[in-house]
Parts: sequence; C-alpha cells; structure tokens
Amino acid sequence: MKVLVINAGSSSLKYQLIETDSELVITKGIVEKIGGEAEFSFTNKNGEKVKSKISAKNHTEALKVVIDSLLDKTNNFISSLKEIDAIGHRVVHGGEEFFKSVLIDDKVIKSIEKYSELAPLHNPPNLQGILACKEILPSTKQVAVFDTAFHQTMPESSYMYALPYELYQKYGIRRYGFHGTSHRYVTMKAAEFLGIKIEDFNAISCHLGNGSSIAAIKGGKSVDTSMGFTPLEGVVMGTRSGSIDPAIIFFLMEKENLSPKEINDLLNKKSGLLGLSGISNDLRDIFAKKDEDKRAKIAIEVLVKSIRRYIGAYMVELGRVDAIIFTAGIGENEWHIRENCVMGLEEYGIILDKEKNQNTRAKLSDLSMKGSKTKILLVPTNEELMIALETKWIVG
Ligand code: ADP
Repeated sequence: MKVLVINAGSSSLKYQLIETDSELVITKGIVEKIGGEAEFSFTNKNGEKVKSKISAKNHTEALKVVIDSLLDKTNNFISSLKEIDAIGHRVVHGGEEFFKSVLIDDKVIKSIEKYSELAPLHNPPNLQGILACKEILPSTKQVAVFDTAFHQTMPESSYMYALPYELYQKYGIRRYGFHGTSHRYVTMKAAEFLGIKIEDFNAISCHLGNGSSIAAIKGGKSVDTSMGFTPLEGVVMGTRSGSIDPAIIFFLMEKENLSPKEINDLLNKKSGLLGLSGISNDLRDIFAKKDEDKRAKIAIEVLVKSIRRYIGAYMVELGRVDAIIFTAGIGENEWHIRENCVMGLEEYGIILDKEKNQNTRAKLSDLSMKGSKTKILLVPTNEELMIALETKWIVG
C-alpha cells in the first residue's frame, strides 16, 4: 500500500510517500515559507535533493506542488493519483478524546479544531494540511495520527496536576504528553528486537532531540511521561527550559516587567541549552566548546541531570525495567550523553558496554554488557513510518 504522510506546520508542509509493505520511502520533501517566498525541495528517483522556488500562498497551493512532483513523468513516483491508497496526517493534539489513530471525517475535523485551544501553534496548521488534502484528493481516505494518543493510557495519578480539580474540568488542564508516535515506534521496535511480547515489555523511552521527552512504558503502554499540559515541561531541551519552579515565572514577570507572551517566549525559545550555554540550541555546537567554555560544560551537565531524574523516577515507577531506549537526534548520535545518563547504575543491573556505545550511532543496537538486567538500546525513531503503518492498519 502507498501512503502519503503529511506533517503540516505553520509555514511548511513536510511529506513522505511510503510503500508500507516494504517500508520503503519512495520520495520525500518539504515546502517551506508557505505564504512568503516559498521553496520546495524533494528527493528525486536517484535519491538526489532537488530544490526550487515556487509560488504557494497557502497549504492547498503547497500540496498542489507536491502532487505535481509526485506525478511528474521524469521521476515516475506514481502514474495516477489513484495510486495513493491513503493519507496519514501528523496531528499534535487529540485531547482526551483520541487514544488511537482515526479515520478523518467531519466530526474528527471539529474535534481537531476544538483542541486548537490546547495546541494553538500546531493543531491549526495540521488541520490546514487535512483540508488541503480533502480539497485536492476528495476521495482518498485520510487518517489522523495524534502525538498525544499513545499517552492516553496514563493513570490519573500520572496525568493529574495538584491544582484545583475544577480547572481540570473547566479547561482540561492535565498532563497529555507528546512525541507519542515516536515513543510507540521505538517501544515496538525494542520489544521485537529483544524478543519480548509487547504486552510484557517494560521500558524507559528517552526521545532526546531538539524537543525531548521521556516515557515510562509498562506492558507496552505509556504510564507516565515528562512532557505535560504542553511540550514545555520535563527535561532540558534545545530552547525550552523543561521543568522549573513555577514561582520563577511570577518573580520574572514582576522584576523584568514581562507580559504573559514574553515570559512564554523566554521559556520556550530562549531557555534550555541555548539559554544556559549562550552558544546554540544545537548540542553539537555546545560540545565543540565544552573544554574551554564553562557555560557549555554546565549546559551539558544540567541536561544530563534532568534526564537522569526521570530515569530514576521511572525505574521506581516501573519496578522491572527491561530496557532503557535512546532515540532522536541526541539519543541516536551522542554517545557521551548516553554514557552519562546511565553511568553508575551497575548496582541496579544497568551496565553499559562503553566501547560499543562510543562506536555506535543511528542504528538499532544493544549497547549493554552481557549480564546487564536492563538492556540499554539505541533505537532510531521513524515517526513517518509509524504514521504510515498506523494509516495502513486503520484503512485496512
Ligand atoms: P527535532 O526535535 O527538531 O526533530 P532532532 O531529533 O533532529 O530534533 O535532534 C536535534 C539534536 O540532535 C540537536 O541538539 C543536535 O545537536 C543533536 N545531534 C547530535 N548529533 C547529531 C547528528 N549527527 N545529526 C543530527 N542531530 C544530531
């Protein structure tokens, strides 16, 4: 089956055309700067990147460009639109309503619109992607795959905040968690790799990228996660602070005379690795300066400690941990961070093969020593493939 995976952002439209039986990506690309001086890039049939300036005032026009490129005779990705069996959309927020992926109909569209209040930066563009597809491919089945859905199995004790209960009822203030598609994918892959049935599999899944979250997985299901009501909570991220004492917000608003929007920007865009180091949000730039720059060194140490706090908490929550999984940009590529996250845990049956860890990147591997009770795994994530597979399972 050929599934077109769409990830629509505020001014971008990312896509992949995936053959789900072979799990091969036929082509992928992105339209950027929609509404402005738009640019289109995609991989041609030889795997080369082709870039061009295009006109795309909105997501529908951007999608038209993508479709034309799919149909283009030189690449021959598809010969007719009928070859696209279904479309899978990444949708960030599904509130408490969606605990799995769903076939999109008018009712689902209304719900996605409703949850825009909880994800104002993400759900509206996700919806624009869906509407564009409805317009151009009206008879093709569309599926919504939610970032929040995988975490809907969390118990109340994990998702409730100790705020007045009425605020949960009135506004839906609770922990939702994000990166669910990635956590689900790496959990499935890890269980398969270890030969453990998914319903018996306990793990701590560390998705460490520009945005990062950690999830506690019990019996293959999410029972706790570090991101909360929004993706701001949890571990230190590229530009997000992660968890801080909420009183700092009121202190700063008063001292620096900041508006709610300004403090929101400060915590989401100017904090984290960027704020601490003053160098960059990209860990590679910070590593390059860690020996001579004190703030670079501190940024790395604070990042690692914030991850270890969750690993410790989730070890207690799970009791038995079959695997600690590392994934995403940092988790897949930075051996130094992985080593420091699990250092000194031999007493708990977590023993890293340091040499193997140092020499491995971006491929599915067991990085633990023989005899380590908890395996330490590197599992490359693939959210697009997960969306394509979910879409296939839903449309049948
Ligand atoms: P996003 O959340 O934007 O998808 P990524 O998963 O691509 O982010 O992760 C980005 C982070 O991964 C950056 O901090 C970057 O420094 C780090 N990283 C380290 N090594 C690599 C690498 N070889 N390729 C990509 N990212 C890397």
